[in-house]
Amino acid sequence: MRRLQAFKYELRPNGEQARQMRRFAGACRFVFNQALALQKANHEAGGQFIGYVAMAKHLTAWRNGSETPWLKDAPVHPLQHALKNLDRAYQNFFAQRMAFPRFKKKGKRESFRYPDPKQIKLDRANGRLFLPKLGWLRYRDSREVLGTVKNATVSCIGGKWFVSIQTEREVEPPVPASSSAIGIDVGIARFATMSDGSYLAPLNSFRKHEARLRRYQRAMSRKVKFSSNWKKAKARIQRLHVRIGNVRRDYLHQATSAISQNHAMVCIEDLQVRNMSKSAVGSSEQPGKNVRAKSGLNKVILDQGWFEFRRQLDYKLAWNGGLLIAVPPQNTSRTCPACGHVSAYNRRTQAKFACVACGYEENADVVGAMNILARGHRVAACGEAVSQARPARARRAASVKQEPTEATESGAMPLRAVGIPCL
Ligand SMILES: [Zn+2]
Repeated sequence: MRRLQAFKYELRPNGEQARQMRRFAGACRFVFNQALALQKANHEAGGQFIGYVAMAKHLTAWRNGSETPWLKDAPVHPLQHALKNLDRAYQNFFAQRMAFPRFKKKGKRESFRYPDPKQIKLDRANGRLFLPKLGWLRYRDSREVLGTVKNATVSCIGGKWFVSIQTEREVEPPVPASSSAIGIDVGIARFATMSDGSYLAPLNSFRKHEARLRRYQRAMSRKVKFSSNWKKAKARIQRLHVRIGNVRRDYLHQATSAISQNHAMVCIEDLQVRNMSKSAVGSSEQPGKNVRAKSGLNKVILDQGWFEFRRQLDYKLAWNGGLLIAVPPQNTSRTCPACGHVSAYNRRTQAKFACVACGYEENADVVGAMNILARGHRVAACGEAVSQARPARARRAASVKQEPTEATESGAMPLRAVGIPCL
């Protein structure tokens, strides 16, 4: 089995190298924005979409032209790769997977990629790495790079520089260490509830740091903009953001590693996180309802990283020989696992499930997880992964998680309506 994996290390550049990397990242951002502007102007003039090859010729002209001679100082492959990124952004837009590409801003996710492995040299014995036009760079050798190097991406996060080395290698087809199956219900009060009754407490790293973040932001607003004290205050805020991100990533990685090692089949709800966290405010023509409550929910969803949770489960299970099954979310919180009765009245409160037909009682999240597992078994029996089987458009149209606190019958939707066979 072919396994692609990225290994990320902190770089320890000297002053000149750090300056160079900032310049290279800036040059790539410039090329991306310049190409996007050209693409837009060309489209407005009625021209056809400019493909990558034609755009690369423009890049050569910019590098050799008199207006931007400094582009010549940057390595050419990363610049070309910036054009490839734009091209892919357009392809994703054409395929309706993504929104229209936007201009890149300075200071946000500064990065550039060396796509050619022949130009990258790794000298682990001396803890150094060679990159074109940067020379030998020291890095924090925290673990071994496994496999053959495919490319290297340099990025800046909170003032620190990192390199992510993508590799490819052949591994033995994995054999799952366990044969158990589990259903997971993700929620607000508990981050993840398992069908066996265990659960993961919510992380809410953002909530925890929110007070401090607000204090820092107030302190920054009192400073004169672009003064050195303002810059210091800004850097402090950025460091806190990085810290929040690190805490969250660590939590998610530990949770998903444990789950994927202990279970061979994991069933989750096919939630459309993008829909759920869509702006609650709405547009000026269609103002959103219940904005306050919804933006609070959005914040929690984004804070806990549900999408990232699912992504990590997916690839870690694949590495361990397991399987992730995403099932349609309708009625998982309203169906009785004992008798199968579906009613919104089964769930009187957010936490408690009590079947109105047979009197079965259980924690509502555990019931959700049990239903998800049962549905996952049915999907697996049909040999079809529901999440992959549907095209992007249909997936986007699929309903979002319904978790009413009060009982309403109208929200209930028959499963047949979403066109899932075998349910
Ligand atoms: Zn029942």
